[in-house]
Amino acid sequence: MTAALILPSTGIRPEIATAAIPVDERVWVPQAKDVSFRPLLFNTVTGGWCNLLRVRRSGVLSRHRHPMAVVGYVIKGRWRYLEHDWVAEEGSFVYEPPGEIHTLIVPDDCAEMITFFNIGGAMIYVDDAGRQTGYEDVFTKIDMCRAYYAAVGLGADYVDRFVR
Ligand code: FE
Repeated sequence: MTAALILPSTGIRPEIATAAIPVDERVWVPQAKDVSFRPLLFNTVTGGWCNLLRVRRSGVLSRHRHPMAVVGYVIKGRWRYLEHDWVAEEGSFVYEPPGEIHTLIVPDDCAEMITFFNIGGAMIYVDDAGRQTGYEDVFTKIDMCRAYYAAVGLGADYVDRFVR
């Protein structure tokens, strides 16, 4: 019996394999005071992205709602949501169901946390009453990185390596 010959289809975008923690600090894109992210994948086909989120002691990731699911894995440090009583510790897995609203902070006894997040759809920023104050999706994230990488000398097209 001979194995069937399977040829690759055309149009497949290249895979991504990279060191998740970058050597070059400029790869981290500032998001807010003491909050930055390191892009890993911008998926323009399904509408979502993967990144590392890095939050230092006093950093706060503003209150937001997820219309689609999020999964995360804590690589370093610990963090929690103001709206919940659990703490995500180093090595923790986190699942955030669609509809979840939360505000991310780092406890005073933690200098820095780094967490991998796979985010579907968008992040909808909301006020205390749940009214929308802003949003991010894969395209606003790409634009944000493009502008930042141009400004820090990596070049606007540096972001293209993460786009699929
Ligand atoms: Fe979230």
